[in-house]
Amino acid sequence: MRSYEKYFRLNRLPHMWCPGCGNGIIMKSIAKAAEQLGLDQDNTVIVSGIGCSSRASGYMDFDTLHTAHGRAIPFATGIKLANPKLKVIVITGDGDCTAIGGNHFIHGARRNIDLTVILFNNNIYGMTGGQASPLTPLGKMGTTAPYGSVDRPFDPCELAKAAGATYIARGTAYHAKPLVDLIAQGINNDGFSLIEAITQCPISYGRKNKLGDAAQMLRWMSENALNLAAYEKLADDQKGEKFPIGVLYKKAAPEYSTEYARVIKMAQEGK
Ligand code: SF4
Repeated sequence: MRSYEKYFRLNRLPHMWCPGCGNGIIMKSIAKAAEQLGLDQDNTVIVSGIGCSSRASGYMDFDTLHTAHGRAIPFATGIKLANPKLKVIVITGDGDCTAIGGNHFIHGARRNIDLTVILFNNNIYGMTGGQASPLTPLGKMGTTAPYGSVDRPFDPCELAKAAGATYIARGTAYHAKPLVDLIAQGINNDGFSLIEAITQCPISYGRKNKLGDAAQMLRWMSENALNLAAYEKLADDQKGEKFPIGVLYKKAAPEYSTEYARVIKMAQEGK
């Protein structure tokens, strides 16, 4: 047994994801980050919402919670405030986090509460049948966009930065090894961390958009992901589908559960 396998409920495997799905790669990167940090399974909580990626919480051997659609961050916030010593990791997808959960995402970042949000971005609602999400690129097909999406997508990393997150990174399923470090750094950050993990959904997104099989979708990631310094050197008309990966932003700011504990103490002391 490999050492990171202790972080899986092996009796719950095999998983339910489609052949070629990237979710397993991202899930393994989380387990390897946990191994790298030596996370204690009894003091680490994984909270997920609804969707293909959110099924990962059931396969991982920590205290885990599979919650309502878009509501992983509020559940995680309650857990962190009830016991600030816990490491709390949120697993969510682009539909779950940025559509129905978008409000919670913004306010988690605004509070800078110490949660590590790992956003599996496959550009689509996979589990519910391929509807366009807020991260579906312009012109791409979904079952709710049969002529191509006309809704402009936003960048969740830029949104998190504007809202107040203190650690923001992006990786891909192709770059699985660096993704481990990006997740580990996010878990170590004392504040709201976002790691956007670009992942392939060859079934609900790739097939509909003629992007090829899983290997071709991974090749697209390898050809279009650039480190931040290289990306910033590109002129706007050279960017095309290219996108930056690595640590995109870091900042120190007061952490919410610490501030909250300070207020509780003031109230208890009658100040
Ligand atoms: Fe993965 Fe897409 Fe299948 Fe969901 S629908 S399990 S995201 S390949």
